[in-house]
Amino acid sequence: MTNYVFIAPPQPSVAIAGTDRRYPVRRVYCIGRNYEAHVREMGHDPERSPPIFFCKPADAVLEVPQGEEGVFPYPAQTGNCHHEIELVVAIGKGGKDIAPAQARTHVFGYAIGLDMTRRDLQRAAAKAGQPWETGKAFDASAPMGPIHPAAKAGRLEAGEISLDVNGRTKQRGDLSQLIWNVDEIIAALSRLFELQPGDIIFTGTPEGVGEVKAGDRMSGAIAGLGELRLRVA
Ligand code: MN
Repeated sequence: MTNYVFIAPPQPSVAIAGTDRRYPVRRVYCIGRNYEAHVREMGHDPERSPPIFFCKPADAVLEVPQGEEGVFPYPAQTGNCHHEIELVVAIGKGGKDIAPAQARTHVFGYAIGLDMTRRDLQRAAAKAGQPWETGKAFDASAPMGPIHPAAKAGRLEAGEISLDVNGRTKQRGDLSQLIWNVDEIIAALSRLFELQPGDIIFTGTPEGVGEVKAGDRMSGAIAGLGELRLRVA
């Protein structure tokens, strides 16, 4: 046993759908500005504002077990916490400088995720030319459902992605609208970082992002992956 000065923190992990096995999370990469209509709603020009990468800590993952309603704790220091429904890609085989045509062989599976955002803090940071961590990388900022292995789910290249709040549809798009598709994301990311098994990638959100308040109920869906439900505490 290693002689740590305190008990080592637990390994973040999420369930693999339909099994008793778990996927250990190493890193959480996120893509911003990856749906044209969302780039516009955020006040940017898609032509001049290509997708960008940022990260969240692995222990920001908030697992919602299959079929259950999760609880998202309303974060501190914000008056404008936004939902961003996203397709999550889980890497199963590492690599660097991965060619887009080979990218699919690196995918373990897919999940539904929410890139929860303290929009007021993110905007203030962006305006001041500061990093986004306070807006994006807070505790429980990455709720997600179980991972569906690609071997069963197939390749998710098209299909509806949507989010309802209190029964009203707020976000709706299609995976085919991704500016960088999953293969291109993996290729681009692997040129910047050596990917490893356990890395998960939030692939960006369609238009319609907006605020949630305590007591709200969010229900996200992606064709082929079921639902992700959370109540805001
Ligand atoms: Mn996002």
